[in-house]
Amino acid sequence: MLGRSKIKRLQKEMEELTNSYEKQIFDLKQLIEISKSLNSTLDFNALIQSILYICMGQLKVLKAGIFVRKDIARQHLVLHRNQVGFDIDHSISYMVPEDHPLLHYFQDHFECHTLPELEAAVPEIRSLEALTQLEPCLIIPLRAKNIVNGILVLGDPITETLFSPEERDYALNISILAGIAVHNAFLYEVTTTDMMTRLRLRHYFLDVLSTSMADARRKKHTLSLVMIDIDNFKRLNDTHGHIYGDQVIKRVAELMLDNIRQTDLAARYGGEEFVLVLHDADTDTASAIAERIRIAIEESEVEYEGTILSVTVSMGIAQFNARLDTSPRAFIDRADKALYQAKEGGKNQIRVAAPPVTSV
Ligand code: GH3
Ligand code: MG
Ligand code: MG
Repeated sequence: MLGRSKIKRLQKEMEELTNSYEKQIFDLKQLIEISKSLNSTLDFNALIQSILYICMGQLKVLKAGIFVRKDIARQHLVLHRNQVGFDIDHSISYMVPEDHPLLHYFQDHFECHTLPELEAAVPEIRSLEALTQLEPCLIIPLRAKNIVNGILVLGDPITETLFSPEERDYALNISILAGIAVHNAFLYEVTTTDMMTRLRLRHYFLDVLSTSMADARRKKHTLSLVMIDIDNFKRLNDTHGHIYGDQVIKRVAELMLDNIRQTDLAARYGGEEFVLVLHDADTDTASAIAERIRIAIEESEVEYEGTILSVTVSMGIAQFNARLDTSPRAFIDRADKALYQAKEGGKNQIRVAAPPVTSV
């Protein structure tokens, strides 16, 4: 016969065990949701934002940032600009060099750390302002394929209590999901981006264009396409050389990026040909944006080894028309024909594809 007090104790143990299992089931369900959410985008910036908000919500902190690789040619990690809540000192370069002992340490110690714990394990980080200036409360490595590919920094916890071992485990599980998602999005970004201009490549543009056309068709949004070609570029290359030509291409790309919204797309269509996909833009809006870019390019001077030159561009614009633009090819052709007319008309000008849009 079990005594009354023993039964009570057993009941209490059962209750605690049930609570602990329920908490674990809840955490696992949360992790499945987090995994779904992180796998739903390959857009690097959107992914970073999503990771940070998940961490802030799940780990109850007010600050979150992430150090990631910037491009394929460089291994060092930089603090992504989408950080939330940290006071950024612009005189500091928030960068962790690729050969920093911290990265070697994380390679062998895939764990969450507080700043004092990390300082004790890797004394060199005391002089790593990029990390110490942020005063993070928890620092977690990210990794994919056994390589450290990021560092998550969290700050300003909502509760005063220290992170429990369970909370640290949970944070590490989030970082495992985040590390893989960051790896995939990074690969996608570098394989769809032109290294010279940092613009997206043609196949990425074609993908965006067909999605945007489907959206415009369904939701009756306006959508415009702008084809851009540098004028007399062959002559410039022949006179000043390819390296100078490359500088000009880079400058033109910068000016395009400076003059479009974040939601729009600028891509390198071919050698010295570019495209813009402008969302919620009719021909008037698209013409205004195109004209801004045309003038910025005309007025800019490119200097290379003492030679200063300026170039001009011609542009063709087409507004999406559901009846005419039955495929991306058809839409591109209309913008391309307008571009041809701009060249025929004497270059350094913009032409809009006919016929004018009456309805979509
Ligand atoms: P138009 O005003 O009619 O456009 O004349 P264009 O000389 O610009 O025309 P075309 O398209 O025939 O010439 C484009 C030249 O661009 C040919 C090629 O040598 C050069 N080009 C293409 N890609 C690159 C590149 O990445 N770098 C450099 N420097 N030149 C390139
Ligand atoms: Mg061309
Ligand atoms: Mg040209």
